[in-house]
Amino acid sequence: MKTIGLLGGMTWESSVIYYQIINREIQKRLGGLHSAKILLHSFDFEDIASFQRDGKWSDAGAYLAVAGHSLVKAGAEFLVLCCNTMHCVSDAIEKEAGVPLLHIADPLGAAVRSADLSCVGLLGTRYTMEMPGVVRDRLTDKYGLRVLVPEGEDAAELHRIIYEELGCGKFLDSSRAACRHIIARLVARGAQGVVLGCTELPLILQPEDSIVPQFDTMALHARAIVDLALS
Ligand code: GLU
Repeated sequence: MKTIGLLGGMTWESSVIYYQIINREIQKRLGGLHSAKILLHSFDFEDIASFQRDGKWSDAGAYLAVAGHSLVKAGAEFLVLCCNTMHCVSDAIEKEAGVPLLHIADPLGAAVRSADLSCVGLLGTRYTMEMPGVVRDRLTDKYGLRVLVPEGEDAAELHRIIYEELGCGKFLDSSRAACRHIIARLVARGAQGVVLGCTELPLILQPEDSIVPQFDTMALHARAIVDLALS
């Protein structure tokens, strides 16, 4: 079994779930007392959010890369970013670390393709929805998918819910309802599936919150991490 290097704390609310899914999956596949070999670097998310607010993406990439490199020095055989947004700097991290980084959009793209869908709605932070280089380019260029994103007030509300509520441990029914409406509007525009492209969204959204299939990037990523660890 390979040692997994997790770059987490983005936010810790979802890193906990990553840790749980990975270990449960290893237990299920190997049985007995088996559990995952994990090295975790958990950031203070305020530091990361401040790079994001200031648009200092290359500084953020360098900051994350130092942590990734230290995980590799400690024995990590591959790296994982436990969030969607910071995949905008995944290339820099992978280059600095010298080991593979398992991109969150790859298990997602494969799952959407195997469900035979060609157009998905993408929910996430403003950065993930607006910046093509987070996951959108990879979904279109590598998996041939059409990606729709919420617009205007819907996009702003989603970003606010993620940063002012989910990342701070607040899970409100009113926000779940708002997300349901945002999803319905994406479906009306032609989305055949909806991507939970923020690792905190599964903390308030369930499959029944949309009439089309949901793709939970965190759960898909966590299972792909186990596949790679056991390969
Ligand atoms: N965890 C979130 C994501 O998947 C948002 C936090 C962040 O900006 O890293 O994008």
